[in-house]
Formats: sequence, C-alpha cells, structure tokens
Amino acid sequence: MPLTPCRQCAEPVDDQSAVCPHCHAPRPAVREWHGEGFEWRSHAQWLGVPAVHVAFGNGANGRPRVARGVIAVGQRAVGGVAVGIVATGFVAVGVVGVGVISLGVVAVAAGAAVGVNALAPLAFGVVAAGYAVGGVAVFGWKILFAVAR
Ligand SMILES: [Zn+2]
Repeated sequence: MPLTPCRQCAEPVDDQSAVCPHCHAPRPAVREWHGEGFEWRSHAQWLGVPAVHVAFGNGANGRPRVARGVIAVGQRAVGGVAVGIVATGFVAVGVVGVGVISLGVVAVAAGAAVGVNALAPLAFGVVAAGYAVGGVAVFGWKILFAVAR
C-alpha cells in the first residue's frame, strides 16, 4: 500500500485511509481537502450572512457542516428560516426545531410551535405544552382543542 505524508501532521499514512491514525485528520493523503458532502451559498448577502446557505456532510475539519444564512438548509441549520435535522431560527423546521415559530418532531418556540412534541406559548402537537394549546395530549392554560385529556 503506498504511503503518503499526512496533510496535517506529515506522518506517513496509507493513501486510501479515511482518517489519519496519528492526528485523526479526515482523508490525510489528500493535499487539498474541502470536506465531503455538499455546500452552497448565495453570493447575495444580508448583514454579512449569505441569503441562502445549504450545507450537508462534514467540512474540512471533519466536523458536520452548519448552514448559516437568512435561509439555512442543512443537517444543522441556523438562520432566519432554518430547515434541517436540527434547526434553529426565527422560523425553524426540523426534526428538532427551535425558534420563534417552530415545526418539528420536537418543536420548541418562543411564539408558536407545531410538532409531535410542541412546547411554546401557542403549541399544537400530539403532545403540546404551553399557554394556548391544541392536540392529543395537551398541557396548557387555554385548551383550544384536545383529542384526549
Ligand atoms: Zn495526521
């Protein structure tokens, strides 16, 4: 197996190895490593943040990419409108959504949340907890509707 110096620590590594055994750098035999997955950001920016940022996979540091933009889409998304597995934003849509308005399997919001589990002042979900709530199992001050109590 041909050996190449690691891009990061210069120790000899197999050029097919996925991770450097010495310093844990991803793809150590590759000279220029930009990570894996997919990343795209719009040229248009707003307050220094891309208008749209889409990011999936791991970055050059081997860590999961985080999408940050006015509209952010990715496994981890942070933005005005965030869509992701874990989404944090003014409007957050994700498996886990945290925002002012959230949709998700687990949705936590400062305003309104809709999800399997919803926690917000205004919450709708299979399990909904908040001030004004609606859903199957609801915990709240004002019950808007409830399938079971
Ligand atoms: Zn290394």
